[in-house]
Formats: sequence, C-alpha cells, structure tokens
Amino acid sequence: MKPAPIPANEQERLAVLHELEILDTETDEILDEITAFARELFGVDAALITLVDEKRQWFKAKIGFGEAETPRDVSFCGHVVASGETTVIENAALDQRFTDNPYVTADGGVRFYAGAPLTVQNEFHLGTLCLIDSAPRTFSNDQQRLLEMLAKWITSEITARHERKNWQAERDILARGPVATVVWQVEPEVHLIYVAENSQRILGYPSEHLLDPDVRYESIVHPDDRDELLERMHKLIDGKEDYLEMDYRVLTPAGDLRWVHHFARADIDASGVLLRVRGYLLDDTKRKALELELREANQSFDLALTAGELSTWDWNLETNRIKVSHTWIELLGFERHFDQDADWRELVHPDDQAVAREKLKEHLKGLKERFETNFRLRRADGEYIWLHSVGRVIERDQDGRAVRVVGIHRDISTEVRNERQRRQQNKVLELVSTVQHEFLLVKNFSEVCDIALPELMSLTESETGFIGELRASARESNMLLVQGLRNNTDKESQADRQRLVEQGLEIELQGSAIERVLREGKPEICYGEVCNEQAQFTPAIMPSLHNAFLLPIYFRGEVVGCMVLGNRPNGYEQSLLTLLEPILNTLGTLMHMRRVDEERQSAVEELRRMATIDELTGVVNRRVFLEVCSQRFDEQQRYDVPVSLAVIDLDFFKRINDTYGHAAGDEVLRQFTDIAESKLREPDLLGRMGGEEFAILFPYTSEADAFQATERIRQAIAEHPLSLDGEDINLTISAGVAQLRAGDTDVDRWIARADAALYEAKDSGRNRSVVAK
Ligand code: GH3
Ligand code: MG
Ligand code: MG
Repeated sequence: MKPAPIPANEQERLAVLHELEILDTETDEILDEITAFARELFGVDAALITLVDEKRQWFKAKIGFGEAETPRDVSFCGHVVASGETTVIENAALDQRFTDNPYVTADGGVRFYAGAPLTVQNEFHLGTLCLIDSAPRTFSNDQQRLLEMLAKWITSEITARHERKNWQAERDILARGPVATVVWQVEPEVHLIYVAENSQRILGYPSEHLLDPDVRYESIVHPDDRDELLERMHKLIDGKEDYLEMDYRVLTPAGDLRWVHHFARADIDASGVLLRVRGYLLDDTKRKALELELREANQSFDLALTAGELSTWDWNLETNRIKVSHTWIELLGFERHFDQDADWRELVHPDDQAVAREKLKEHLKGLKERFETNFRLRRADGEYIWLHSVGRVIERDQDGRAVRVVGIHRDISTEVRNERQRRQQNKVLELVSTVQHEFLLVKNFSEVCDIALPELMSLTESETGFIGELRASARESNMLLVQGLRNNTDKESQADRQRLVEQGLEIELQGSAIERVLREGKPEICYGEVCNEQAQFTPAIMPSLHNAFLLPIYFRGEVVGCMVLGNRPNGYEQSLLTLLEPILNTLGTLMHMRRVDEERQSAVEELRRMATIDELTGVVNRRVFLEVCSQRFDEQQRYDVPVSLAVIDLDFFKRINDTYGHAAGDEVLRQFTDIAESKLREPDLLGRMGGEEFAILFPYTSEADAFQATERIRQAIAEHPLSLDGEDINLTISAGVAQLRAGDTDVDRWIARADAALYEAKDSGRNRSVVAK
C-alpha cells in the first residue's frame, strides 16, 4: 500500500483549511442534508464530506459511516486532495494502491469509492464529497459530473458560512465598539436610511427615531453646531469636499450633551453618480471633556500669565515631550524656543532633584492629589531660579498609568530670597544678643570677636575675616588692635593666629579704600583682586584677597574700628551692609564699652595710687604706713616674729624753709627719701607721717638691727651735704627706734615708744638715733 502523495501547495492548503475554522465543529444541517441526498442519489452505502489535514481526514458530514475521522495515510480522499481530480475506484480489491488497505481488507470492507474534490480559490483541495460501497460498482460520467456539482455546492456553503461568521463577528465588534455606522440617502432628500445598532449608545436615540422619515438628523445636534454640520454635509454632497470631519454636540433625549466625532464620505458609483453618504460616529465626550478641562485650565493659566507670574507646562510622559507656555520660556531665559526634546528634569538643581522626583512619584502613584514642590531650575544663562510647581495628571492609560501631566510654575525667587534674608537677619540678631551676653560675661572683646567672626563669615560666605579696633591713642593713624582674625583656607594656623591676637597684635592699615573706611566711615566693596594701593595690612595677616568688603565700625558717628571680610565666591553686594549693620553697631558699642571700661580701670588705679602714696616724695602716706604696721603687729602676735620701727624727724627744718624757701624745703624732703630708700632693704617700708616726719618699718628685724639700719641713713645724711641749685645744704636727722614688745597692746603704743625715743634724741643734741626703753 502506498499513501497518497502530499500536494505541492500543502502549507498554504492547510493554512486555508484552518482559516475556515471548520475542523472539529458541530454538524451542519444543510451539509448533512446534501450528504444524505448524495447517498440516496447514488444508492451507495455511505456518503461523507471529508476534510484532510496534516494527519487525518475528518468528516464534516457522514451518512452510513461510523468513524469520526480516519488516518490520512490510509485514506482514499488523500489521493483526490493530491491530484485535485475526481477519483473513481470501481473495485478497490483490484486496485494496487488499495489491495492491502485495512478498510479494504476488513470484513465487508470498501470496494467502491468515488470522491470529488472540495476546491477553494481554484487551487486548494481541502477534502472531498465521497461515496463508499462494500460492493464493486461502476460510475458513469454523468454521475461523476453530478457528484462534482454537489461538491461545489458544499464548497460554497462552507466558504459562505465562514464569511458570514466573519461578518457577524465584525458586526458584533462594531456594535460593541465606539464607532457607529450610519448611512444617508441623498435623493430625493437627505435622510438616514441605515443606523448601526450601537448608534443608540453613542447618540442616545433609538434607531427607529433616527430612521423616522419625519425626523431630521440635525434636530438632535446642538443648535450652535447645527449650521456648520449642514453646511459641510452639503459641501460633501456637492462634491466640494472629499470628506467631512467634525466634532459636534448632540443633545440626548435625557438632556445630556454628547460630543460626537463625525467622519463621513460620499459613495459614488462608477459613472460618478452620488449614491449615498456613509458616516462614522465616535463618542468623543470623554476626550472632549478632558480637552475642555485642559483648555479651561489653560485659560485660567493664561489669565494668571497676564499677571506675569505663572507659566504652564504640559508634559507627555510617554513621549517625554513637554509643551510649555511662552512665559515659561521667558522665565528660563531661552531665547526663541525651548527644545522640547530636552529633558527638563536635567535643568533641576542637583540638590533638589531627589525631592522633586519623590513628590512627582507620589502624585503619579495617586498617593497625593497633586504634585506640588519648590525647586531650583537652571536658566539659559546658568543661573538658578526658585520655582513653585503645581501639577496634576490629566490623562491615564487603561492600566491607570499617568500619561499626561499639566501644571504651572511660579517664580518664587524673590520670596525665597526674602525668606533667606529674613533668616539671615534673625541670625544676625541672635548673634547680636550672643555677643552682648558674652561680652558682659567674659569682658574680653577678642573672645567676643572670636565668636562673632566665624558666624559673620558663614553668613556672608566669606573665606576670611578681620576685626580691628582703632587704638584710642592713635585715632589719626591707621594702627589697629586686632580683635579677631580668621582664614578658612588655612585652618591649621588658626590657633597661632589666636595666640597672636591674645598677645595684643597691632597692625597698620594703608591704602585708598581703607582710608575711606577709617576716615570717612564709608563701607567699600572691592570687586576684584585687592591690591596694596587699595588695602594693605602691615604685618600681612590677611591672605590674598580676590574680593573684599571693608566695613567701618562706628560708635556715635565716630569710626572706632573696622571689619574686613574677604573671598566670597560670587563677590559682595551692597545689600549685605543692611544685614550686617546691627552687628557692626553692636561691635562698635562693645568697643566703646571696652575702652570706657579700660579707662575707668586706669582711673580707679590712679585714684587708688593717689590715696596711698605721698605725692611729694612718692613714699607711702601715714594711712598706708599705719595699715602695714597693724598687719605686722598681727603677724607678730600670731607668730612672734621680730618687727621694729623707727620714727625720724629732720633737724631744724624750719630754718631750711626760712633760708631757701618752701620749694627748696620740698626738694630737701625728696632728696631725704631718695637717700633713705637707697639704704633700705626690700621688705623695709619708708612712710611719710606728715610734715618733715618719716617712719620706717623693719619686718623680721630686731631693735639692734633696726637701730643699725637707721644709723646708716643718719650717717649718710650727715656726712654728705645735699645739693640744691648748686648750693650745699647740710642736713641732719634724729630718730627713735622701737621693737614691738609684749607690752605694746596696740600699734599706737608701739609708735608712742618710738616717738619718746625720738624726743630723747632731739633733747640730747639731735643728729642721733635712740633706742626706745
Ligand atoms: P626741730 O629740730 O626741733 O625739729 O626743729 P624744726 O625746725 O625742724 O621744728 P619745727 O616743728 O618747729 O618746724 C618744722 C617745720 O617744717 C615747720 C613747717 O613749716 C615745716 N614743714 C612741714 N611740712 C613741710 C613741707 O611739706 N615742706 C616744707 N618746705 N616745709 C615743711
Ligand atoms: Mg618736726
Ligand atoms: Mg624737725
């Protein structure tokens, strides 16, 4: 047995067969009837409609045969499919191709076979209409032609069925789809003659209403759109337009408004006669609503735009294209056209990108009702502006993914600047209070400057800074006492600088700019490299300055010092002056307070000195001498250390006054103290008790030693005449010496004993020292 050959066009044949979608389908009444009719007509055991696919022949209809399908390689029909010719086998038992075919060899097996091909498109033989009988038969030419006619009928039934099915499917799709077909007749008058099922859903009217000869189509159209639709329909009918495409509103019976996208074309026959107008209607309400919403939004944006503040953007996330308003372009300083393909996100300041992206993500995911954030955007000139951006998704795809976002931008640079200024001003005010507090606490101005200077530098983005105070003694010169000095580019040396400042570093400032600051009290900005002619520091304590702000420090209209800030990345602006003024005033006040404090302190010292020192001779006065005596008295009481004193009176001093005058007497008093002090040891204290009377306190000294010391002075005076205006004056002194004793209940007693000894010395001839009893 030899299986039938495979046709040359087998691939396409199978494709056509499968395309028909007929294999393994339900029985078909008509096809069954034709098959039954064939069996009757030819008086055979069985008649079948067979379809041959890759491996089998399947029976679409069968009368008198049990199996649903049989293998292709043992099939008779395979031969018909291969040849495309009607095949008649009068006795299969005698045909070499089939003698060992299982359907032939079987009990009561096939003897007669006649099959006519089911041919589509003239070349694809899909199967057969075949007749089978268990007895050998003959088959006439007429019978064969009859069989072929039936096969053709079956073929056309099968293909028509398929087309109908396709057509039905298309109709179903159309009926469910958003586009409805309508057809107008043109003659004798324009009127709808066909309305697709789904038009009701689109237009809101049942088709019977639309097809009613008394109803004109335009009656359902919004009055505002009606004239335009009619006019354009006429243009189409008159052949002035090839097609009509228009959006118009339909008023539904329920009173709603529907937007319809209307596309129409004229059907013209071969001779150019207009047959009808075919229209396609699309419900466009949703899209239109969005469009209107957007337009409204745009209109309100436009309104805002005229106020010059807002700029709009419309961003398509799918194409990543952004449409921006004119104001937007102007805002960013792009000259003619913002390159729509450029990714605008790249213009966002790197520090703001993460936040902006996060906010956008939140909104796109639907977590936030709108996108709202502030960020900096780079202008065409490279500068950044602050924007307040609000946006909203206006279109999402079927999966809910955002497709389009529109929004507005507002330039808030000024607000941000003001806010920053406000913050900076607050900082300055805080600094003012810190500085004042610190000054009252530590009373050390350079420590205060050490707190203020780094703050002021960070506020003004300066790399280096200096605060100097004009020396009170040198207001007309440019000598300044350095109170603060910093240089951030060389932080390691900061401790050294600090030490220098603590040690009272003084510098000289020179240059035209610094002169104006110190003399005229005018702040100066150096915009470029600062040269020596402008400002020079001697010694050079500042690093080289690329730019600088030289600021006078005032107190009550008088320049008391200056501050220099330097090396700000973008240079200094006059506006910084307003910011710094409060702290400059504070520094001025503190400088003044410091100076007053210093002056007061020296005044106090002077007063104290005046109260303790005898003005004429420079030795301590009686009060101090007695105080020290009383300390020594206490010490002796406690520790029993020896302490002695001597009282000294100048002999015949009245005569000196009388002979040489009072001034000469004063000079004698001075020379006496000089000589006496030169003979005394470190712990001994010489004091003037009044007039020409002196006293010496000798701590840790016995009576005998004190006597000797007094004697040394007495001898020195007596042996060397004093020189006064070239004249020699002979002077002698008398002294009484007393060691503090147990009987001396107080300092007065002790002194009284010494006085008594002095009296004795006078009495016994003067120019001598006497030890008290
Ligand atoms: P005696 O040896 O007895 O002490 O004689 P005396 O002249 O020193 O004694 P007296 O007490 O009579 O005179 C003291 C004089 O010293 C009287 C007074 O005018 C004078 N004297 C007191 N204080 C000063 C002074 O500060 N400067 C001058 N130039 N004279 C003074
Ligand atoms: Mg005297
Ligand atoms: Mg005297």
